[in-house]
Amino acid sequence: MLTRDRPDSRGYFGEYGGKFVPETLMTALSELESAYAKAIADADFQQQFQQLCREYIGRPTPLYPARQLSTKIGGATILLKREDLAHTGAHKINNAVGQGLLAKRMGKRRVIAETGAGQHGVAVAAACTMLGLSCIVYMGEEDIRRQSPNVHRMKLMEAEVRTVSSGSQTLKDAINEAIRDWVSNVRDTYYLLGSVVGPHPYPMIVRDFQSIIGEETKEQVLTTYQRLPDYLIACVGGGSNSIGLFHPFFNERQVKFIGVEAAGRGLETKQHAAPLAVGKAGILHGTKSYLLADNNGQIQTTHSIAPGLDYPGVGPEHSYYKDIGRATYVAVTDTQALEGFKLLCQTEGITPSLEPAHAIYYAAKLAAELPPEKLVVVNLSGRGDKDLETVIKAIGMEL
Ligand SMILES: *Cc1c(COP(=O)(O)O)cnc(C)c1O
Repeated sequence: MLTRDRPDSRGYFGEYGGKFVPETLMTALSELESAYAKAIADADFQQQFQQLCREYIGRPTPLYPARQLSTKIGGATILLKREDLAHTGAHKINNAVGQGLLAKRMGKRRVIAETGAGQHGVAVAAACTMLGLSCIVYMGEEDIRRQSPNVHRMKLMEAEVRTVSSGSQTLKDAINEAIRDWVSNVRDTYYLLGSVVGPHPYPMIVRDFQSIIGEETKEQVLTTYQRLPDYLIACVGGGSNSIGLFHPFFNERQVKFIGVEAAGRGLETKQHAAPLAVGKAGILHGTKSYLLADNNGQIQTTHSIAPGLDYPGVGPEHSYYKDIGRATYVAVTDTQALEGFKLLCQTEGITPSLEPAHAIYYAAKLAAELPPEKLVVVNLSGRGDKDLETVIKAIGMEL
């Protein structure tokens, strides 16, 4: 069931969020907001979404008790929410299908999107093809190089991939281009944003579609253990897989939330992507939130071995959770993430994406300090196929 609580009517979570966009987009955002409000009040829309979740995405995804991993660590019981088993290999598809349905309902046949890792691009390409919508994906040149299998997948699904060669040629620049396109083609175009970032109502819409992760998790833990979990741990790029897991537990204060950002080559090096750990509040891509900028307000270049975490901003709801102390945010380096990656391969026979490998590393450290009756849920946001080349190079593996 899609909900609609928080943010306030102006799109703020505490002091974060809002709509910092050119005048031309204000009407489009209002139109989107009212179309979404009508959609979620419509039982047919809810039913269509639920049905596609089951039949197309393969939901519910399992909540897998990682016994070998837990035994090796010798502490708390670790449960993996298997978003890597969702269609197209990551949680991104939940939001892509949800917003695809919304675009169709609004009569917008031209869908644009941005992508970093390529996971969102693939998810949007798949959803658009399945729903009969046309699809253009903006992607940075650097990301196209390091995620070429995903580029091929998008093209095979007949999406048009547009190369972005400005700036650092990564996600931030791809978002700028997508926004530019939207401004010029706002009437017939739906902008399908991939995370809980951007102007209101996007952080709310994406959160609602991703909340299916936390809703299922709650039901699955209660059914198996007759109680709530103690910790929820997820990696934070823009923040959608984590907020999707956390949000349905917001009112259960005994459940602790831990968001894991990318510390890259170290928080002291500036080559990281950890705005909640060391950033400050500012405005980026239409929303007010924590971000990484220098003293002149210039957005910093970021680095993470995980392309999906390589973003200088974060969703406004996370900034709010941080300030009110509802969630704790930590950061894990590239090297530690590779350890998390190997740990999961070697204990459970699962190759995670490098993004959730950050969460695995942190969860393993935490679980080691806890007694076995504690339940630690880790969101395994995606599978590692797209990252194998990066990992093999990084660990120097030979045939
Ligand atoms: C995109 C991506 C992320 C990061 O995005 P969020 O919005 O923070 O979830 C994490 N994991 C995977 C597998 C991704 O594809």
